[in-house]
Amino acid sequence: MTLEALHQLFLEFPNICTDSRKITDNCIFFALKGDNFNGNAYAEEALKKGASYAVVDEKRTDHNDQIIVVDDVLSTLQQLGQWHRDYCKATVIALTGSNGKTTTKELIASVLSRKFKIIATKGNLNNHIGVPLTLLSITPETDIAIVEMGANHLKEIEFLCKLAKPDYGYITNFGKAHLEGFGSVEGVIKAKGELYDYLILNKKHIFFNGDDPIQTNRLHSYPHKSGYSDNKQYYPITFLDADPFVRLTVENLTIQTQLVGRYNFTNCCAAILIGHYFKLTLDLIKQGIENYSPQNNRSQIIEKDGYQIVLDAYNANPTSMKLALENFKELKASNKVVFLGDMFELGSSSEKEHQELSDLAISMNFDALFLVGENFYKTKNSLTKYRSFDELAQYLKTTKFKKSTILIKGSRGMALERILELL
Ligand code: ATP
Ligand code: MG
Repeated sequence: MTLEALHQLFLEFPNICTDSRKITDNCIFFALKGDNFNGNAYAEEALKKGASYAVVDEKRTDHNDQIIVVDDVLSTLQQLGQWHRDYCKATVIALTGSNGKTTTKELIASVLSRKFKIIATKGNLNNHIGVPLTLLSITPETDIAIVEMGANHLKEIEFLCKLAKPDYGYITNFGKAHLEGFGSVEGVIKAKGELYDYLILNKKHIFFNGDDPIQTNRLHSYPHKSGYSDNKQYYPITFLDADPFVRLTVENLTIQTQLVGRYNFTNCCAAILIGHYFKLTLDLIKQGIENYSPQNNRSQIIEKDGYQIVLDAYNANPTSMKLALENFKELKASNKVVFLGDMFELGSSSEKEHQELSDLAISMNFDALFLVGENFYKTKNSLTKYRSFDELAQYLKTTKFKKSTILIKGSRGMALERILELL
């Protein structure tokens, strides 16, 4: 079947499923392969459960006109996403960066949806499968698609740009995340910068943080750009405080967000700048920012039995952990307790980064500091450390804290939100 014919079929059956356990009626099932599964084995099952077609690359039944055999299911899905993106003609805004992509994407969506028909990446579906799925969720009515792009290796963003062909782009920041795959921060700059490379080559518009020297230097002589900054050189947005929620002003209007942590300021700035660029009134922009509240353990504030908890257990890397600590230090609260869990995917920098972060946390003199996980266990200091979550849990079950303000931050694999049940 040609790509064009497959696309015609997709227009008739516009729901795509890649998980045979989550089949919806009349969907097209794409039999992807993963490290531990082969979707081809589930094609029959998907059809029985109500899928209209199954796209496979290993034919395992004799005859079935609902089975579409292609050379490679993954690349077919990617090409279909690319084809559909061209077909729909929506404006595409791409986002990448080390930290804050999903938050920024959701803020931009919350703002732009007040004036336009938008679609955006669902959750964190930001990779070589998630991006095509996002592109396939565009409809002919969509005005703007906001596409999150993640990467832990070079050339990934370049590839995702070929699929999504963004008209606009924004890089949240260049931080110390996924150092294992990138080697160094220079590697991160190169990899995330592939979005700039694409946009510059195609003379597309770039949104940027005018207070970030890496971004301003890189874009110095590029004409098609709009920036924001705290210092009035670009569209001026001023940080007021983050105690605990970020407050800011733009054109004499104060915006009170539901986001904890100073680091969320730039995420808001990006959404405000983009709203301004697309000519939304300030009132609509304000509504968009103020109505958004984060989910999934991303910088949430939780009140529980006299504890005020800053739960930031969604993920962690050296940059976001340092910012979270600095922010927590600034909060006006008494009896501050910090739980830090291991950071993963740091490769050979891991030992050094864990040591530096534990030194930093110790120097901040919190009322109590708990380091959890194999990596923090190996750091050199006089603290009692907890080699595993279970060790910590044992301790917490037998200890009662007084009323306190608590920061919880660690990589996803540590699932530190489990601490909530133990307090
Ligand atoms: P992922 O790589 O998992 O897709 P992401 O880039 O989408 O992550 P978010 O999910 O928005 O990032 O935020 C994850 C965490 O990163 C937050 O809980 C917060 O601790 C931190 N963070 C968010 N924004 C920033 C920022 N602008 N600078 C530094 N750290 C940030
Ligand atoms: Mg994300």
